[in-house]
Amino acid sequence: MSRQVYINGKLLPQAEATVSVFDHGLLYGDGVFEGLRSYGGKVFRLEEHVRRLYESALAICLEIPLSPAEMCQAINETVASNKIVDGYIRALVTRGAGTLGLDPNRCSNPQVIIIADAIALYPDELYERGLEIITASTIRNHPAALSPRIKSLNYLNNILAKIEGLQAGCIEALMLNHKGEIAECTGDNIFLVRDGVLMTPPMDAGILGGVTRDAVVEVAQLAGIEVLKVSLTRHDVFVADECFLTGTAAEVIPVVKLDDRKIGTGKPGPITVDLKERFHRLTRE
Ligand code: PMP
Repeated sequence: MSRQVYINGKLLPQAEATVSVFDHGLLYGDGVFEGLRSYGGKVFRLEEHVRRLYESALAICLEIPLSPAEMCQAINETVASNKIVDGYIRALVTRGAGTLGLDPNRCSNPQVIIIADAIALYPDELYERGLEIITASTIRNHPAALSPRIKSLNYLNNILAKIEGLQAGCIEALMLNHKGEIAECTGDNIFLVRDGVLMTPPMDAGILGGVTRDAVVEVAQLAGIEVLKVSLTRHDVFVADECFLTGTAAEVIPVVKLDDRKIGTGKPGPITVDLKERFHRLTRE
């Protein structure tokens, strides 16, 4: 289905929504993005995603030629004009066309692009049975090299780990940080449950601050579950009762095996299932 794509203030048929081959987003991955979700025509946690987009842009000295409020409006307009009810939205800002050199100051026209499309959901079966994942040997970017808090157009770090996962027959892979601690998966944050307590790596483990992660923490706390943001290792996964991942596309998805080793009973645990349902209700409220 052909979509109306927002590009620099206009909604154009997707075939006409193009960028220059000199765009540094293409040449160098120099830009930032967000992945959002709409439920019943309403974008979930729109302001939070837009805040993260502007923080990513600030971190790479990229000035977005719209205010955050205008960005929210543009996203809503793109969703509405494509008649998307339950869908996925990609918002991105590139550095714009420059020269073949690195110098970002030679790029004068950042490109603001918003694509709204149907969502490709994981099969239901995976939510019922739970995922089997592996630990990738590719570690998460060192925060002092390229902070994982920046959702940049350069996702090669995650793609390399994803390739390892796919080669092992897994759709997700766990990434450790430079200290050997658990960071996150290639496109999802990770949570463990032990003795009824929910645990997730802190921001300084070198992770993207997931919007879904924040929402799940809130939902869990409202349900009276204690939540700890603590450094974790693979050992903690192996001795955990439950494990699950969170992300805009995946929502809450159970993990039942890491590196072919069963986690807990090897089936999605009760707290995971409960939080998955609570999150589901929150998004469809
Ligand atoms: N970590 C990474 C590396 C991601 O790409 C994503 C997806 N954006 C997440 C975590 C989950 O973040 P969110 O819940 O905001 O989608």
